[in-house]
Amino acid sequence: MVLSWISSLWNDNTTFYIIIIPLTTYLVSHWGTCLVFTILDLTLKPLEDFKVQQGSISKLDTWLVGKHILKSIIINLKLQFFFVLPLLVIHRFQFWIQSKEFSLETQLIPSFPKMIFQFITLILSQEFILYCLHRFILHEIDKIFQKVHKKHHLQKYPFCVDALIMHPVELLVDTIPNIINMIIIQPYFWVHIFFIFYITTFNLIIHSGFLIFYNHPKIQNWIPIIKILNQLIKDHDLHHQYEIGNYGTMRFLDYLFKTRTRDYQKSLSVNF
Ligand SMILES: [Zn+2]
Ligand SMILES: [Zn+2]
Repeated sequence: MVLSWISSLWNDNTTFYIIIIPLTTYLVSHWGTCLVFTILDLTLKPLEDFKVQQGSISKLDTWLVGKHILKSIIINLKLQFFFVLPLLVIHRFQFWIQSKEFSLETQLIPSFPKMIFQFITLILSQEFILYCLHRFILHEIDKIFQKVHKKHHLQKYPFCVDALIMHPVELLVDTIPNIINMIIIQPYFWVHIFFIFYITTFNLIIHSGFLIFYNHPKIQNWIPIIKILNQLIKDHDLHHQYEIGNYGTMRFLDYLFKTRTRDYQKSLSVNF
């Protein structure tokens, strides 16, 4: 009964919009970003000033870095095949089911201000929900930290490909904001596709440990977005290193709730 209902809804259009476009967007942004940073990690050893944790690469030789990256790539592929890609399809399917008259709203393109507003709302909502889950569930419940989130923290000097190294349970936890956003915000199809691209790329960049376009004061003053991005990359690097503070990815919630890693400076007895 249910199966025949689903198959009656299914046609070439749905396959294209529910599977092909979201998955292609995700895979291209994920592997494209990983490729760029992996090439940098393996070839730019002399330009190590680009790294947040200077000296982190020279502690390891290129062969070891390569071995680590290869291992992470294999884990990435496994997790994507068994968890990320099926979840992404289920997720779009949920949106399709909840949309009125089961019609695909994919062809609808809203006005530019509406798109921007919805995109910013999505980013803020995602950041708030993830901050709460990351801090109160994954870190502050010690049993969950040890059994689930610790796996993501094993890498103290994360590389780009380490962004997805986590326990499968954490991958499920990370889909909670998406489900809530889909129900409450109900983004337009193309806004959501752009959001998939943004969130995938941003998450990889903050795990890269690379100071984008070089951490040079003059360049930073000319282009303030580079300064902001570099600060966010440093923040997440510190989070991996000390396992405390910097629970958000955009800093403002950590400022608001006084949970920046540097706020725990005394208890960690280190200087930042
Ligand atoms: Zn991380
Ligand atoms: Zn964490």
